[in-house]
Amino acid sequence: VGLETDDPLIYRAKTGPNRPAVFEVASGRSYSYGELNLVVGRIAAFLAARAEDTATTRIAFLGRNSIAQISTCLACQRAGFVFVPLNWRLGASELKRIIDDCQPSLIVHDAEFADALAGMTDLSVPTLPAEGADGLWELAAQVQPLVPLAFEADRPCIMLYTSGTTGAPKGVVITRRNAFASAINFSMVGEVTANSVALCDLPFFHTIGLVAIGRTTLMMGGRLVISDRFMPDRTLATLGDPALSITHYFAVPQMAAALRAAPGWNPAALKALQAIFIGGAPLSPVLIETFLEDGIPLVNGYGMSEAGTAIHMPLDREMVARYPGSVGFAAPLLEVKLVDENGEEVADGEIGEIWLRGPSVTPGYWNKPEETASAFTDGWYRSGDLGRRAEGGVIHVPDRLKDMYISGGENVFPAEVEAVIGAHRKVREVAVIGIADPKWGECGIAFIVPHDEHPSAEEILAHCAERLASYKRPARIVFVEAIPRTASGKAQKHILRQTHLPS
Ligand code: ATP
Repeated sequence: VGLETDDPLIYRAKTGPNRPAVFEVASGRSYSYGELNLVVGRIAAFLAARAEDTATTRIAFLGRNSIAQISTCLACQRAGFVFVPLNWRLGASELKRIIDDCQPSLIVHDAEFADALAGMTDLSVPTLPAEGADGLWELAAQVQPLVPLAFEADRPCIMLYTSGTTGAPKGVVITRRNAFASAINFSMVGEVTANSVALCDLPFFHTIGLVAIGRTTLMMGGRLVISDRFMPDRTLATLGDPALSITHYFAVPQMAAALRAAPGWNPAALKALQAIFIGGAPLSPVLIETFLEDGIPLVNGYGMSEAGTAIHMPLDREMVARYPGSVGFAAPLLEVKLVDENGEEVADGEIGEIWLRGPSVTPGYWNKPEETASAFTDGWYRSGDLGRRAEGGVIHVPDRLKDMYISGGENVFPAEVEAVIGAHRKVREVAVIGIADPKWGECGIAFIVPHDEHPSAEEILAHCAERLASYKRPARIVFVEAIPRTASGKAQKHILRQTHLPS
């Protein structure tokens, strides 16, 4: 990886300095590639002047999506540091555990999170506001930009913590090669070009926000529209703004459903939009159909912190309509295989674990040699997700291996049961888990958040009886007020278990 491909801004700042690079929805601020490049060079110089050992410097950022945050990320890339975006949705003790794990040399933060940091006992890491009189942005404006250097492709540049869907978040080390390969993968599957305008209100602390949308859009010379939060009405106004002409929008399934249900929903206003990209959690075919009726393809993509964009539907309305339950095809720089418990590839149509190999795949987890060893076999990353290659070569992700349970000797994929129950008009959200059962080995419990009109358990069971084989039907229905979710929209089933099924 050479200097200009590795640092996404240098080439763009040289060849199109006046082209718009970033726009911040909350403030209305806009920067061209030339301006952004200068800011990034200055922040890189400021950080480099304070760093002791560039090979190990990690800079954490606790803040919402902003120009300051993406600039700090790119400045770390330029100075050879590792950028660690922190999940601001976590509680103080969870955040502290991550900070203790990654031991950054500095935490840059939004004013909004100053109290949370100040309230942490024995926090020995220095902190610096991102903006304001004594903030990074203003301090960096007074220094000369750093002269770009070339770095080894294997050098880490980002560390992302996983969502914590299955347990404690793990720090995924992303090298410069990984980040570059992820951007190539995403630009190809997502058709991101210099004419793309991408609206990102998914948080930068996940791979999709930072590595896929953020870095890819800038590497390709498009315009990145940065939003600090998802508010359906504001998002719709931004999507419909003719001055921006957004071409790419990204959401987790719950966000897409919320947009569609918002009073301001008007697909006719979304003239430039090529697709809404969905990822992070299973996407229901019912939602895809609803959007297709409005003329907007929901393009499903499967990925993870460890490999970036991995399997993706093409931006093609007909394909989306033809293969609604699928996540599409392997990204160009990734090999995908589906294997059984002996590591042998399964036949088409059979379900196996998804294994991935390629230049976007992480070398491993930070400080976790055992987890790293158990996640890799012969250079393949074992995703822990199940996949099936279906007709047309498209891949389906029935569920996570960990979430699958066996009832009466038959495999049950909670995601399939959730899709059926979730289609009931009185159900707002649902999560299904398997528990031990003396008769069947395991059986399912469905946790349901009702709509305004509350269904009865009998209604749900009757709905399932018409649509699901008996072994797939949940044995119990539990109505709850909310399903705990990660910021990427995934149901945290271990929390449901702890809260509702004390052992
Ligand atoms: P942890 O490893 O801490 O439990 P996590 O696995 O949720 O967290 P992420 O990297 O944030 O960590 O999420 C990746 C996971 O999200 C994938 O392994 C897969 O289970 C799920 N996923 C991503 N995209 C899709 C999709 N389109 N359909 C179904 N599941 C998806």
